[in-house]
Amino acid sequence: MRSISILGATGSVGEQTLDLIRRNSGEWKVVALTANSNVAGLAAAAREFGAEVAVVADERRLDDLRAALSGSGIEAAAGRTALCEAAARPVDITVAAIVGCAGLGPVMAAIEQGGTIALANKEALVSAGDVMTAAVARHGATLLPTDSEHNAIFQCLQGGRISDVRSITLTASGGPLRTVQDLSAVTPAQAVAHPNWDMGAKISVDSATMFNKGLELIEAHHLFPVGLDRIRIVVHPQSVIHSMVEYRDGSTLAQLGPSDMRVPIASCLAWPGRMDTPMAPLDLPAIGELSFFAPDETRFPATRLAREAAQAGGAAPAVLNAANEIAVDAFLAGKIAFSRIAVLVESVLEQGELPAAPRTLEEVLRVDEDARHRATRILEPA
Ligand code: NDP
Repeated sequence: MRSISILGATGSVGEQTLDLIRRNSGEWKVVALTANSNVAGLAAAAREFGAEVAVVADERRLDDLRAALSGSGIEAAAGRTALCEAAARPVDITVAAIVGCAGLGPVMAAIEQGGTIALANKEALVSAGDVMTAAVARHGATLLPTDSEHNAIFQCLQGGRISDVRSITLTASGGPLRTVQDLSAVTPAQAVAHPNWDMGAKISVDSATMFNKGLELIEAHHLFPVGLDRIRIVVHPQSVIHSMVEYRDGSTLAQLGPSDMRVPIASCLAWPGRMDTPMAPLDLPAIGELSFFAPDETRFPATRLAREAAQAGGAAPAVLNAANEIAVDAFLAGKIAFSRIAVLVESVLEQGELPAAPRTLEEVLRVDEDARHRATRILEPA
């Protein structure tokens, strides 16, 4: 029996993790499940899996959560501190699947326990970068990349040496707008309609703008220290190859699979072993063709902005991430046009001096908050 906590249990990654646990229920003990405000989903999951504790980030929902869990013996808690306390409970593996920099505090709390963290929450690593990787080393924690591309790279690196890597290629589907000419008129419904993956709203918009790939570039830079100039992005619309590693002898290893997050999640849950998933065998003749294109950074400047932020280092990636989170929220709320997302992020990055490189979690959170204020002021001038 292995123990598990899922941060962001009511989201797309969280639910797919629970699906795998359900299929192997005798093997797992669920400790903590968390959500932002979805009390009904959280309580249902906590009851089904017999969690020790359920935490909702939104403190106003505590009474509702208590009512939904009454008679179950499951602890109910609310608020950011409670979220970090739940994340700090010792477990064999923590799945970090909160969306956005909001997940950073809980991820760091899990890291400080020296445990194993299956990291889907890319914004946390993008924002905290060196602060997080230093904490991982200091506390003897293990980060297992759950993002499909990084999980693919991680798998391709098994048995290999980073010093033997010539390049890493991150594949990108190109999102739902790859072939759409007029990006100014794109609606939220169009932007979230991803052709290959079924994901939460924020990452779906990120895929449409290509900020997802930009964030992944920064994520890869921290996870696989081969040097930024050796990490490439290639558009691969079929999303069959999830990423590749090229070694110095000219061998390129790729990981292939269905576009279903349960594959990389299962790879993390069972690591270093394997577990069954309900995936059909890969049918290459049915897929027929795999195609590849260079990214169009004129129409989708996000990967350029992310590369520049990674090159600048320090606070720049956290600023880029925070500005993007504000821009995506504004786009989904119908307040700005799709094409303004990248413009806003670039404006925030270029506005005045960047803050000093953060050295602690608190400093990262201050940079994040400051960038959110700057982005909001540009959107809603006083
Ligand atoms: P969803 O939006 O589907 O779910 C997000 C989860 O986080 C929900 O449980 C949500 O709770 C919770 N949450 C949201 N805001 C907060 C907050 N302020 N404080 C605490 N909890 C919060 O996201 P996804 O599952 O799509 O993505 C999760 C992470 O995984 C993201 O970082 C994403 O980039 C990454 N990822 C996702 C993939 C996917 O296929 N979905 C693929 C690869 C990476 P509630 O339900 O109450 O709102």
